[in-house]
Amino acid sequence: MPELPEVETVVRDLRAAGVANAVIDECRFYWPKTAACLPPEQFAAALCGRTVVAVSRRAKYIVLSLDDGRALLIHLRMTGKLRLEPLPAKPLPHDRAQLIFADGRALVFNDTRTFGRFQLADTVTGTLANIGPEPLDDAFTADVLAARLHSRRRAVKPVLLDQSVVAGIGNIYADESLFAARIHPERPAASLTRREMVRLHAAIRATLARAIQANGTTLGSATTNFYSVAGRRGSNADNIRVFRRHGQPCPCCGTTIRRAVVGGRGTHFCPTCQPRRRPNPSSPVSPLS
Ligand SMILES: [Zn+2]
Repeated sequence: MPELPEVETVVRDLRAAGVANAVIDECRFYWPKTAACLPPEQFAAALCGRTVVAVSRRAKYIVLSLDDGRALLIHLRMTGKLRLEPLPAKPLPHDRAQLIFADGRALVFNDTRTFGRFQLADTVTGTLANIGPEPLDDAFTADVLAARLHSRRRAVKPVLLDQSVVAGIGNIYADESLFAARIHPERPAASLTRREMVRLHAAIRATLARAIQANGTTLGSATTNFYSVAGRRGSNADNIRVFRRHGQPCPCCGTTIRRAVVGGRGTHFCPTCQPRRRPNPSSPVSPLS
């Protein structure tokens, strides 16, 4: 599933392609459920004639801000992809929606698994009010992370995947961040020491920033994997150290990387670098002060 770095890559590609300033002539849905919350005809009518004034990202949502103050939110979910094509766009299997622009191009949404959604938001902050802070914002400090984790007794891995805690982190970057911070994924979030909170905060930011620089992670060659606009692969797979590398040696210590199911999700870690016990039992369980 595309996570923060992959969605950010798509947003940057859309911006570079000049989608901001494009005028929407028409919107077509080929899979009615792609249009969330509104009947497809009503959804399409609301977009017709609108100008896209900005393209941005919030959590895992692509945000096309419109000239009427509303925004089109696109969530790629498992297999959603966008491509820009000159008109008439050549239909492909699994195309679910098209935005036809007045500049003679179409933004086509292709989605094999059909979980992706278009949503019309009166305001982005209102519609996405329950989503946690952006991990790469300056305001996201180690204190902020600690305050959001210290009352949660669940394993830290599913807590990181909870979008209301921190925005944009999915399975790949949760595993990679916990490895970089040397924290076992099954440690209760509330049990993390101050030092571990600081390490995890730095690891999340460094892991996500490096992945954005590499245009996201494309693993393997299946067509359902992540590809940005124009079918571009991300090259962050070269930076992956534990995710789906179970059975291989840890790049730090050589111990065999293990896979476990934590919070219902496949989880990859090094049992030596990420010990299960809390490192210093006398360390206080509290947010940073
Ligand atoms: Zn190791």
